[in-house]
Amino acid sequence: TEEDIYKKLGMPWIPPELRENMGEIEAAMKNRLPEIVDLGDIKGDLHIHTEWSDGLNSIENIVKKAKELNYEYIAITDHTYPTGNGLTEKRLLEQWDVLESYDEVLKGVECDILRDGSLSLRNNILEKADLVIASVHGFKPTTETILKAMENENIDVIGHPTGRLIGVKTEYDLDMEKIFEKAAETKTALEINAYPRRLDLRDIHIKKAKEYGVKFSIGTDSHSIKEMSNIIFGVYTARRGWAEKKDILNCMGLKELKDYVHSF
Ligand SMILES: [Zn+2]
Ligand SMILES: [Zn+2]
Repeated sequence: TEEDIYKKLGMPWIPPELRENMGEIEAAMKNRLPEIVDLGDIKGDLHIHTEWSDGLNSIENIVKKAKELNYEYIAITDHTYPTGNGLTEKRLLEQWDVLESYDEVLKGVECDILRDGSLSLRNNILEKADLVIASVHGFKPTTETILKAMENENIDVIGHPTGRLIGVKTEYDLDMEKIFEKAAETKTALEINAYPRRLDLRDIHIKKAKEYGVKFSIGTDSHSIKEMSNIIFGVYTARRGWAEKKDILNCMGLKELKDYVHSF
């Protein structure tokens, strides 16, 4: 078997996702291969849209689907006005009132990062959320824009950080190392967006970000319950970037996750 061959070579078996000539042979020889994340380690989906913004499904049906996927929790993260039929602050607070009745649902939001790095929601709203994703929609940001957004302590995750849409939009022109440095410093997680045309961050960025001590959040960015199964593509991408369970927010249990995001 393959394992036997590795054994003969005097090294542990290397998972296929790590075989990219990115230092895996050296790491294996020193017995320092990462214990990369598995689908079964994922305790919830942290990026889901509902019919309250531009999603197709009700909160009720999404919660049902989450149970089918054996999740411990999910985060509902609808858009804010005016992106994607997004919610005004008033509507968002109304939605969060509804979400209060679900123990396993985090009151989240995908707020917009504006051109100057400020956010589409005021801080007195953001601080009421369980999980805040901040994302750029509709323009190409500079590195400074993203860095400024990360300085807001209410931001937990930067959504689809490089903005690529495979075959449609190329990545923003960003100094990723500066972003990784700031993400580590401000304890802002970077998303591994599992939507098949995004896969953003991608593998080489994940591997680099991990060296800076950055944490990741895997989210499907689902706009329908069918898309919630896309989580596997985020896990594959994370594996190709050598991400481990300990690097990923949604490998934490619900209580640990809530404590983690509120401690910074
Ligand atoms: Zn988005
Ligand atoms: Zn989204």
